[in-house]
Amino acid sequence: MAEIEINSLMKQFGAFQAVNDVNITVNNGEFVFLLGPSGCGKTTTLRMIAGLEMPSSGRIAIGGRNVTFLRPRHRNVGMVFQDYGLYRHLTVFGNIAYPLEVRRLQRAEIARKVNAVARTMQITEVLQRKPDQLSAGQLQRVAIARMLVRDADVFLMDEPMSHLDAQLRGQMRAELRHIQKSVGVTTIFVTHDQLEAMTMADRIIVMKDGEMLQFATPREIFERPATEFVATFVGEPQMNVFDVRITRIEGKVAAMTEDFVIPLDGTWVQEKGVENLVGQGVRLGVRPEHISVSDKADGSHGVAAELYSFEPTGAENLYVLQCGGVTITTRSSTTETAHLDKGEGSRLYAGFDPNWIYLFEPGSGRTIAQATASRSENEEM
Ligand code: ATP
Repeated sequence: MAEIEINSLMKQFGAFQAVNDVNITVNNGEFVFLLGPSGCGKTTTLRMIAGLEMPSSGRIAIGGRNVTFLRPRHRNVGMVFQDYGLYRHLTVFGNIAYPLEVRRLQRAEIARKVNAVARTMQITEVLQRKPDQLSAGQLQRVAIARMLVRDADVFLMDEPMSHLDAQLRGQMRAELRHIQKSVGVTTIFVTHDQLEAMTMADRIIVMKDGEMLQFATPREIFERPATEFVATFVGEPQMNVFDVRITRIEGKVAAMTEDFVIPLDGTWVQEKGVENLVGQGVRLGVRPEHISVSDKADGSHGVAAELYSFEPTGAENLYVLQCGGVTITTRSSTTETAHLDKGEGSRLYAGFDPNWIYLFEPGSGRTIAQATASRSENEEM
C-alpha cells in the first residue's frame, strides 16, 4: 500500500500538450478515478504513473519514493489495460503466474497464490484454458487476477470493463469496488463512463484537454461541480443548461429567457452576489430530477411547455419538453407522473426547484453560484 503524489505533471507530444499541470495526492488505500472524454489525457497520465511514458516535466512519488523516471518494473505497480494484454500461448494459470515467475517465486508458492486469486475472481474452472477459449467477462477476470496476484503497492486500471456488456459491467462495478476495498491497495482507474466513476470511486478527477477541472468525491462532483463541463459530464440524463439574462422583476431577482422566467430566491442569491449580475447573460443549469411536470399551471409550475417526447425507463419517466426555444429533459418517478399525458404535442407545465439551480459564467464555464441545498456527506442523496 502506498500514497501516490503527483506534482506539476506535464506531457507534450511535439507541440501538443496532452497533460497540463496535473497535481494530485491519492491517499493510501484510496480508489481514485480519472474521468473525462476521449483524448483528454487520462491514459497518458496513467501511463506516466506506470512508467510506460516519461513525463516532459513534473514529479511522481509512490510511497514517498520518487519514481518519476524509474522503469515500470522498479515501481511495483499492478496494471490492467483495455486489451488485457494476456499471453495467448499461455493457459489462464500461466498468465496469472507470469508476474510471480518473473520474480522467481517458488513453484508451490506460485500455485498457492494463483489458486487463491482464482477463487476470489471465480475463475478456478478455467485455469487450464487458453485466453481464446474464454468469454469477454472471463478474460477481464483473468486480467484482474493477474494484477491482484502480485503484492503491488499500487493498482492502475485503464478502461478494464469496456468490452463487457451492460449487465456484466453492472455486476463487475460492485465486485471490483468490493475487491479494491478488501485488498486495500491504492488504485487509479481510468474511464470515460461517468456512471462507473460515480458508483465506484472514493474520489474522482475530472479531466478535459489535459487539465484537471475538479478532484473531489462523487457527491461533491455531482452537487457542487466546478464548471459547466463537469456539471454536464456527470449525471444521466445530463443537466439542462441554457442561456438566461439575470433581471429584476417587481424587485425580485429572476432568470429570464425569451419565453419564460425563473424566479431566483433564497439566501444564496444574496450570499453569492447574484444581484450584481442583473443585466448580464449567464448560463443556467438544472438537473432533470429537479424539474417537476404538471398538467396545470400553478405557483410551482409556471413554465408552459409542449411535450416533445416521452421516454419511460421502467421506474422513471423522462419528459423532453419544448419550453419555447429551450429544450428541457425532466426525470420523475413513474407514480408521480402516472396521470400525465404522454402524447407528443401535449400541453404541460414545468416547475424548477428553486433549491437546485446553478449559474455558470459564459465562456469560461466556471460555476458562479448555486442554490444547492447544503447537505452533509452522510445524508442520503
Ligand atoms: P481515450 O479515452 O480515447 O483513451 P484519453 O483521455 O486516455 O483518451 P490519451 O490517450 O491520454 O487520452 O491521449 C491524450 C491526447 O494525446 C490525445 O489527443 C492523443 O491523440 C494524444 N497522444 C497520446 N499518445 C500520443 C503519442 N504517442 N503521440 C502523439 N500524440 C499522442
